[in-house]
Amino acid sequence: MRFIVLDLEWNGSYSKKAHGYFNEIIEIGAVALDDEMHPVDAFHRVIRPSVSKKLTNLVKELTHITPEELEEEGGSFAKTMRAFSKWAGEEAAVLTWSNTDLLVLLENYRFFHGIDRIPFMKWYADIQPYCQRRMGVDTSQQMGLSRACEALAISAEDSALHRAPDDAMLTAQVFMRLYDPESFAACLQQVNKEFYARLLFKPIFIREFDSPLIKRGSFCFSCPECGKGLQLKGKWKYFSRAFCAELFCKSCKKAYMARVQCRQLYEGVDIRRKLTEKKPSQPEKTDVPET
Ligand SMILES: [Zn+2]
Repeated sequence: MRFIVLDLEWNGSYSKKAHGYFNEIIEIGAVALDDEMHPVDAFHRVIRPSVSKKLTNLVKELTHITPEELEEEGGSFAKTMRAFSKWAGEEAAVLTWSNTDLLVLLENYRFFHGIDRIPFMKWYADIQPYCQRRMGVDTSQQMGLSRACEALAISAEDSALHRAPDDAMLTAQVFMRLYDPESFAACLQQVNKEFYARLLFKPIFIREFDSPLIKRGSFCFSCPECGKGLQLKGKWKYFSRAFCAELFCKSCKKAYMARVQCRQLYEGVDIRRKLTEKKPSQPEKTDVPET
């Protein structure tokens, strides 16, 4: 399988057509890796923006791309992506560092072609969490590319950070260093209907107390001191994205505030529970695992 490590740069601007902010891709850089993890080919194009010719200060400072460069050397999004698809090949797997680039690419296909998919993409992997796991770094916080390079002693000095071809090359180098065929196989996703449903799924907070999606046991708490079941005082109320109630331990004569947050994710319902002792001074927080 041919791996294509992809990096994009984009410029944000207001678009009437998008009814809001639109991230228009202005540069695409990619490195192709063969089965033995050798870089065998590279792709680089700039794209002439059609929504806004004016680049934001952030883009100018980060990338040093100039409007003149885009005007003189850039092709349209459609033409550039046709060339890229041809270069990438039919069965390539697209790899990006975090899925932000993927979402922006999808946003551009939707904007310019009115479709909710990336036509050339058959396989995809977000290699950022994969590399982080391989490095033994806790994945609750996203690791930036430059930090990953630093940790692996990959020199970013010779490359212009934040230009797409250089970022793609650095990403490829990090990946080449950490790649292991067995563990990576589980990361590679086939791009089908379910892939897009998962990618575009917007998590929602469940506000209905009686929702059949919430197990009733989620609202049962036991006293952290004596372990007996806590009694409900009053009612559960929805407040700042969670159900809240006052609970009471008859044995210890202690009052608690309970908070249950229920979020519907693509994979299912995620429930977070928190119990806080109600003290006039210095409230104490206790995390309680779901029962
Ligand atoms: Zn108690």
